Amino acid sequence: MTDTTPSPVTVVLATGNAGKVREMQAMLAPLGYRVRPQSEFDFEQPPETGETFIENAIIKARAAAAATGLPAIADDSGLEVAALGGAPGVRSARYAGEHGDDAANNAALLQALDGQRQRQARFRCVCVCLRHASDPAPLIAQGVWPGRIMTEARGTQGFGYDPLFLPVGEQRTAAELPAEDKNRMSHRGQAVQALVTQLRIEPLRG
Ligand code: IMP
Repeated sequence: MTDTTPSPVTVVLATGNAGKVREMQAMLAPLGYRVRPQSEFDFEQPPETGETFIENAIIKARAAAAATGLPAIADDSGLEVAALGGAPGVRSARYAGEHGDDAANNAALLQALDGQRQRQARFRCVCVCLRHASDPAPLIAQGVWPGRIMTEARGTQGFGYDPLFLPVGEQRTAAELPAEDKNRMSHRGQAVQALVTQLRIEPLRG
């Protein structure tokens, strides 16, 4: 008898973060997708020159789709602090200068909010999916996670601004939450869920 089971559609995930890859694999496998991280392919990362999370996510996804010939998913995220007019925003990873220096970014944030009582903030994540590099209608999903910025760091889990971020309704900072709890509540978890909902309506084809 011939096997009529459809082979899974492969999607490339435009991130270097192993945690994000695992999370996406778990959420997309039940829909029949096979997620391959971009590290399995050899191509140069584009500079994130966009002024918006959406532009940066599309830049990353487009580069991955162009290099691999596969549909691509990318996310872009950051922290928006009300008293700082929404900064650091798309510059969250390089707020203190060097890309990805979490300790320096957290120190710069505490400095910027020194003496400030208005400490509301939110994380935002945008997830996009391009069916191919010149897809004119990317799927776009967003998630936000509201909270406030502490006056000192607490917790050792997570990454980035997590030790300074106290989510609304929580006594624990994002760096004190177990990973499963954070993934369920977070801006990224919400954005991925919303993208999965769109993919159920408009599935990718191999
Ligand atoms: P990217 O979307 O991976 O480029 O992340 C942008 C930057 O935003 C990170 O380097 C962190 O500084 C910050 N960020 C995004 N999501 C989180 C989070 O879940 N926790 C803490 N910091 C985050």
